[in-house]
Parts: sequence; C-alpha cells; structure tokens
Amino acid sequence: MTEKELICVNCPMGCRVRVQLDGDKVVSVSGNSCIRGKLYAEKECVRPERILTTTVKVENGSHRVIPVITDKEIPLDMIFEAMEIIKKAAVSAPVSEGQIIIENILGSGANVIASRSMNKVK
Ligand code: SF4
Repeated sequence: MTEKELICVNCPMGCRVRVQLDGDKVVSVSGNSCIRGKLYAEKECVRPERILTTTVKVENGSHRVIPVITDKEIPLDMIFEAMEIIKKAAVSAPVSEGQIIIENILGSGANVIASRSMNKVK
C-alpha cells in the first residue's frame, strides 16, 4: 500500500488530498472538502490528464504560427504523441478563434482549436 499527497487545483482552497493506493487501484481518498477533490485525486493518481497548449503553422497569415489549445483535457501519456501530430499540422489563414484545427486528436475526444483569430495576408 502506498500513499500520495496532492494539492487539489480545482479551486483556490487548495485542499491537501491524500490517496491510499494498492498498486494502481485507489483504496481511499481523504482531506478533500468536496467531491471534486476526490475525483481530481483519483484521476491524477490513475491516469492524469492535461489541457495541451501549443502553436500550429499558418500559411498566408499575419504570423507564422497560431496558438492552439485542446478543448478538453487529454491523458498526460498522450501528450508527446499529440505534439508530434500538431508539429506536422498547418492551417491556412484566415483562421477564426475556436476553429477546429485537428478533430478528435488520437481518438481522445478532444479537438485542437485555435485560441485566437488570424487574418489572411496577401
Ligand atoms: S477539494 Fe473541493 S474545496 Fe478543496 S480545493 Fe478541491 S475543489 Fe476546492
């Protein structure tokens, strides 16, 4: 049996949450003040997820790259492979904020979307 201590990042209270693990199985969670802390700690210990932010190449745009973000968290163990796909991607200007650049990346259910707009230049 092992114990991990995490700080819940879901709200400014920052509760210290302790998780008892038997291998990779969560046995108990304590220290959380609400259910969100329990769910966060369980996910963080079993299969952590993160929002991915990076940039994608733009053709004919006012800048060479545009900032992008996943519209939901993806498993942390997919980040490297997702970055390899995003590095090879390119989009043509104009680009609208929220436009899907890569749909359902790696089957994660998350889309990579533009986090700003960009005009086309001639
Ligand atoms: S456990 Fe609940 S109250 Fe505590 S930091 Fe997380 S979200 Fe906030």
